[in-house]
Amino acid sequence: METRIFSKKDIEEAAQILKAGGLVAFPTETVYGLGGNGLDKEAARKIYAAKGRPSDNPLILHVSKMEEVYPLVESVPEKAKLLMESFWPGPLTLILKKSKIVPLESTGGLDTVALRCPDNGVTLELIERAGLPVAGPSANLSGSPSPTEASHVYHDLSGRIEGILDDGAVGIGVESTILDMSTDRPTLLRPGAITLEDLTEVLGEKPEIDPTLLGKKMEDGFIPKAPGMKYRHYAPKAEMILFCSSEEKEHEYKVSKRIAEYLEEEGRGFPREKIAILCAEETKHFYQEMAEKEGIILKVLGRRDEPLSMTHNLFRILRECDEGGIELILSEGYSEEGIGFALMNRMKKAAGQKIIAV
Ligand code: AMP
Ligand code: MG
Repeated sequence: METRIFSKKDIEEAAQILKAGGLVAFPTETVYGLGGNGLDKEAARKIYAAKGRPSDNPLILHVSKMEEVYPLVESVPEKAKLLMESFWPGPLTLILKKSKIVPLESTGGLDTVALRCPDNGVTLELIERAGLPVAGPSANLSGSPSPTEASHVYHDLSGRIEGILDDGAVGIGVESTILDMSTDRPTLLRPGAITLEDLTEVLGEKPEIDPTLLGKKMEDGFIPKAPGMKYRHYAPKAEMILFCSSEEKEHEYKVSKRIAEYLEEEGRGFPREKIAILCAEETKHFYQEMAEKEGIILKVLGRRDEPLSMTHNLFRILRECDEGGIELILSEGYSEEGIGFALMNRMKKAAGQKIIAV
């Protein structure tokens, strides 16, 4: 099939494709989603097939307003309502007990369903016109970094889906925060741009945190509750190593020194043009001279003091590394405060947890 690129003026056509059981990728404020009718088993199967995704990894149902949640769930607890009122439309996904009309094919066989109202005008209109909850995992091939531009979706899924609704580059760049509200205490399953601090303020208590987000390993018997978190994810083709320091003071200097040492010792003999260093605007001066002299690629993620600038660029830069044939990525690690928790979660996953403490 030929994948068509739609713009804002084609929303009606895109909505008709969703209604007819086809797949259209859509923009959100986090990453591009791969949309299909969330109430149609066949559409769910098509989504898994297009992504090459294991079918036990559930989808998120996107709604255009809070009222549309009610038919999809058993009930809406008071606290969940409060969170929707506070953060929707926005980058927060809530897990609730599903109602009968949501097929198990959309939820990876679970009796719960993930729900979100994205903060993107084009997509809100798409959902409204389709008149359906739109199932949407990220619109990438399973295992590769999530798409933050329509061209990334085209690269991964052209020929596999009917269309892509293009609304330019997304803002946040990492997937939504996922909070499980189907348990006694709210539990954070995936960190995102709605931070733990934001959630705590509205809930009046700090949510539980899924142990796997705190570095507990699956080998030690911890199974992540968000099935997607167990798969290799967000990963570039290159081997990636994170250099993290727990000290704030002189952190940048120590990390850059350790990266230079690594290149000289463990990395000796590695073709320099196949190495990329990921750093911050504030720290790039530590690497510039060495990179120029040796022919190493230097990629600036964003500003250390504005973590959103880094989440915005991360997946695009990982894709650029793939395109450029990079085989080794050495990256600085950053603070896990606020949105930094989401940034570092994705960076650690991209690095397959290969972390060198400095
Ligand atoms: P993606 O946006 O591609 O990351 O896919 C949706 C994510 O939501 C996956 O990582 C799932 O594991 C997670 N998810 C969806 N539904 C549920 C659910 N019922 N319980 C826990 N996690 C879920
Ligand atoms: Mg995904």
